[in-house]
Amino acid sequence: MDSLQAARYPFLKEAAQFAEENSADIESLITSPSYAGARKRGLERVLSAISQYKVSDVPLIQEYDRLMEVLSYPYARMIVSCVNDRFLTKRYALAEASRMNDLLTNDRGHVAVAEELEVGSTADTDGTVSMHFSDYLRFSHVMKAVEWKLINTDIRNGFVRLSPDKFGRLLQNALQERIESELPLDIPDEFRKALRNDTDHVGMILAETKNRLSPTGGEGMNPDYLPPCMKAILASAQNGVNLSHSARFALVSYLNALGLSYDQIISLFAQSPDFDESKSSYQIKHITGEERGRDGYTPPECATMKTNGICFDPDNLCAKINHPLSYYRVKSGRTERQ
Ligand code: SF4
Repeated sequence: MDSLQAARYPFLKEAAQFAEENSADIESLITSPSYAGARKRGLERVLSAISQYKVSDVPLIQEYDRLMEVLSYPYARMIVSCVNDRFLTKRYALAEASRMNDLLTNDRGHVAVAEELEVGSTADTDGTVSMHFSDYLRFSHVMKAVEWKLINTDIRNGFVRLSPDKFGRLLQNALQERIESELPLDIPDEFRKALRNDTDHVGMILAETKNRLSPTGGEGMNPDYLPPCMKAILASAQNGVNLSHSARFALVSYLNALGLSYDQIISLFAQSPDFDESKSSYQIKHITGEERGRDGYTPPECATMKTNGICFDPDNLCAKINHPLSYYRVKSGRTERQ
């Protein structure tokens, strides 16, 4: 593999070989002054993932720049692993995968990337890519647009034919999934100490970003900003009314999306006269993702709330929004969407 290819696609095995050929190992990457450029760029990879959802570009003209770029990738992964935050890991994985897709659009390196990510495919001479429909479904199921539905593809004898751009988009999903599954890495304590300044810096920027994106701005929930549906469901819960599954799900996922912790949510339910901690605890942990070690469920939008018969007393503002979280944002004057 040439050095430019390694720098552009640092997740490929050949990129690791390129680093080895240049006698770069993890310990010297973390400590040696010779690799200060790689550490700086690794930090930049993570920060631009947080701020722009994308890894920023750098010139890759000199061999030295290419080596620093290759080494910045494992360094960035170590930072993300030390911070060990699901939001950061997802955002970082998305940023790396999205950058790869942009690069593929320009240099058509689909074959090497597909092999690395174990995405079975064959390329025709006209650039069209064929993949078995089961592989297609595996990487396209997260795509919501109708054009990605299997029924709308060019499928022949069980193989879906795709343009290079569409195939690149599926490779993006594959890389995102791969990075998410690999992180966090197990980082030894002495490495964590050496990374402390960078991980603290990322932790601070991450906390600021989460607060900015949160409907509550990280300032806790103000009950005055809740939409009528959530006020009604919360009041029912606190008055000991047995909530339907859909109402309980909507309320807990909503409070979780506002940034309330498990303890804060259960304390709201604890005001009910027939509060059963063990039952509520399991349900809340399941909905918020704590029990599954994953992200919480997304709260339902207004259309779903209406279908489920739990859109109570909509007011004038309700006519202008389509999600109960938007109601909170507008009421609190925070219009930026997560
Ligand atoms: S319109 Fe939406 S926000 Fe308003 S009460 Fe109904 S579900 Fe809630």
